[in-house]
Order: sequence, then structure tokens, then C-alpha cells
Amino acid sequence: QDRSPLLSLPEEDFSCTVCLDIFKDPVMLSCSHSFCQACLKECWKDKESRECPVCRRRSSKDHPHTNLSLKNLCEALRERRQTDPTTGSKVLCSQHSEKLSLFCLEDKEPICLVCQVSRKHKDHDCIPVDEASQAQHTEKQIKAEFERLHQFLREEEEARIAALKEEEKQKSQKMKEKIEQMNREISSLSDTIRAIEGELKDEDISFLSTAGVRGADRCGKTPGKPEVQSLGEDEGDHQTQ
Ligand SMILES: [Zn+2]
Ligand SMILES: [Zn+2]
Ligand SMILES: [Zn+2]
Ligand SMILES: [Zn+2]
Repeated sequence: QDRSPLLSLPEEDFSCTVCLDIFKDPVMLSCSHSFCQACLKECWKDKESRECPVCRRRSSKDHPHTNLSLKNLCEALRERRQTDPTTGSKVLCSQHSEKLSLFCLEDKEPICLVCQVSRKHKDHDCIPVDEASQAQHTEKQIKAEFERLHQFLREEEEARIAALKEEEKQKSQKMKEKIEQMNREISSLSDTIRAIEGELKDEDISFLSTAGVRGADRCGKTPGKPEVQSLGEDEGDHQTQ
């Protein structure tokens, strides 16, 4: 999380000996002591000489420049100090360095007591940050429960659809088997019918031939059409003869 191993140094190394807080716009004197720009300005305000507030050595510059790398380190350190190491969430207001004890419902962000009376949040509804985090926790819990429920329903839906598809598959398979069975029966019946027809034809021929012989014997007629008709058609249809 820390961007520099230097941040593991004790905070005193980044503290101004005048204000005892972490440097703001630090400047380094030729004696290598550092101070906040504002603190040094304040120290030098009524003095003739530009000397170090710690070691009294004279500074070579009247307006020493901000030490940018030290400034960056201090900002990182301040940021880290404002952050709860266990939750990673900020505990101090970056503007006022006060505890973020309130939660602005309008802006949906944690704010400090100074923020609350500031112009930005003056008319906004605020609740204690503990209450807000409790509410957020409850909201998270509810969401998690519903997510579990949705997951369960999705799985249930998938299982039922799969079961239905399987059932349909089995049904159509059974139907197919039945149709095949019927086709087999039909073709075996057709075979039987053909066989019977074949037998009947043979019998007809043998009957006709015997009948023909008999008929020729009895009345001198040659075996012919009328005889065949009387066999196959209505028995009472004799007047056509
Ligand atoms: Zn200072
Ligand atoms: Zn010094
Ligand atoms: Zn604030
Ligand atoms: Zn607000």
C-alpha cells in the first residue's frame, strides 16, 4: 500500500519542530533542517536575520523553495494517517483532518463535523457514520441473501428445464420406437396379405381350372368370364348372366 519504504520511518522524521504536525509545504534550510513554509515565515516575521529555528545557523536563502520530494512523502504519510489500516477506509477528513464521524445522505460520503457546518453540506441530512455503515452492512447482507436466492432459483430453473428436455427426449424416443414397431407390423401384415393374395390367386386358378373342366364337361361351355364373376361378386347378381 505504501508507495515508498521511506514512509516506514517514524512520523517525527516528517514533523515540523514548530507546529509539531506533519510538514505542509516543507522547505529545507542549508543546515538541512526542514520546516513548514508557513511556520518558517512565522518564525522569521519579526526577525532581521534568517536563521534556523533549531540550530540558529544562518540560512543562505531568504526564500527557500519547497522541497517537492519531501512534500510528496508528507502527503502520502498524511493520506495514510487518515486511513484505517484494517479497513482501508479513510478515518480523517482530508480537508479538515477531523474524524469522519458523519455520513452525508445527500452526497453519500463520510464527512467531518467541520464539513457538516460548511457551505457545501450545510442543508444536507447527515447521520452518524456508524449508523451509515450499519445500514450499508445490512444492505450488503440483504443483497447477498437475494443473490443466493437468485442463484438457487437459476439452478432450479436450469434443472427443471433439463428434466423437461430429458422427458421430451425420452417421449419422442418412445414414440419413434412405437412408429418403427408399427411400421414393422404393417410390413409384416403386408407380407401376410400378399402371401394370402398369392395363395388365393393360386386357389382361384386351381378352382377355375377344375371348375372350367367341370363346366366344359357339363354344358360344353369353355371356362370364361361369367364363371369368374359369380365367384368374386354378389351371389344375388345372377341376372347379369
Ligand atoms: Zn510547521
Ligand atoms: Zn538548523
Ligand atoms: Zn471536513
Ligand atoms: Zn453533503
